[in-house]
Amino acid sequence: MHIDIDTDRCIGAGQCALAAPGVFTQDDDGFSTLVPGREDGGGDPMARVAARACPVGAITVSEADD
Ligand code: SF4
Repeated sequence: MHIDIDTDRCIGAGQCALAAPGVFTQDDDGFSTLVPGREDGGGDPMARVAARACPVGAITVSEADD
């Protein structure tokens, strides 16, 4: 799994950090960022829930096939 956050699109709604706190957190300005070391989602199924919860569709979860 690979997770991307479109930081230009993020409005800091915080839904991702609420849905999947093991993957997403918020920076000092309230915008979404990944928990260090969780760029691969850590296998957390809630990462996809968080992507759907984002009101502006800023989160992309893809299957890494490397
Ligand atoms: S839910 Fe979307 S808009 Fe809100 S902080 Fe997360 S990425 Fe940003």
